[in-house]
Amino acid sequence: MTLPRQYIPAIGRRVTLQLFADYHQYLPTLTVWSHLTVRAIDGDIVTVEHYNAKDTGEFFTVPLAAIAPPIGWAPQYTIHVKPDQVDKVLGWFARGIVVRQSHDMSGSMPTAFQPMDNSAQPHWQFCEVTDSVPAEDCRKVFRVAKIETEDIYDVYLVPQSDCTHCQGTGRRTLAELAKIRHESIAELKHKMTLPLKQYELCEAIRLNGYADQTETFECHCILGNFRTLGRSKRAKLIKEWAKDGWDTHYIPYAYGTWERTKETIVQDWE
Ligand SMILES: [Zn+2]
Repeated sequence: MTLPRQYIPAIGRRVTLQLFADYHQYLPTLTVWSHLTVRAIDGDIVTVEHYNAKDTGEFFTVPLAAIAPPIGWAPQYTIHVKPDQVDKVLGWFARGIVVRQSHDMSGSMPTAFQPMDNSAQPHWQFCEVTDSVPAEDCRKVFRVAKIETEDIYDVYLVPQSDCTHCQGTGRRTLAELAKIRHESIAELKHKMTLPLKQYELCEAIRLNGYADQTETFECHCILGNFRTLGRSKRAKLIKEWAKDGWDTHYIPYAYGTWERTKETIVQDWE
């Protein structure tokens, strides 16, 4: 177990101390939360100058560990990325990574990460660089979590296990349909290449994927969508998905939709 990374302020940076008690201990002649300017760092000892609307010429020494890191600085970070961004972000590890903290108080105060060699201010709210990690330290400081999000409004439909047409598989066969209609499979396929309107109008036949001329098609027992599935069936599915790491949640906007997300650590702290 290595010690957490220590925040090291830049020379000239305006800082405060971490705790009320730190002021009493190290700066007893100053008021609490006085501002200080970092003038020198020698190992674990920082020389600071009291700042009070202007430089005061009053110097103090405080331990490095007592300096408060800026909001947004952390010993380690997790970068959350969409699946298609994973490789791009992992590629930044070899370039060094710059961390910027949002100063938009009205928002969620997010943190922005950028490759060090291309770290121009991305947006007005990310005005402050709060951390800058060279390539050799990136594997210790950053981990990458892949966030998958799926809309499950009507994607995860479940067949009825007691369905007499598909026996719970969710797929009916053309052979079965042909038998019901007293037609050959060839006749059926021929008809199905005709305009689909009549089939689409028929509630009982869903022809999803028919065009690839597979021998099966989706059974009509797969009814409704996740939203209308019924509470207990839904809860069962949510539980099943949770075993695979999916977090399923209801989005209450518009008419309400369901979404599931999964976080996978693709690069952990080393
Ligand atoms: Zn069925």
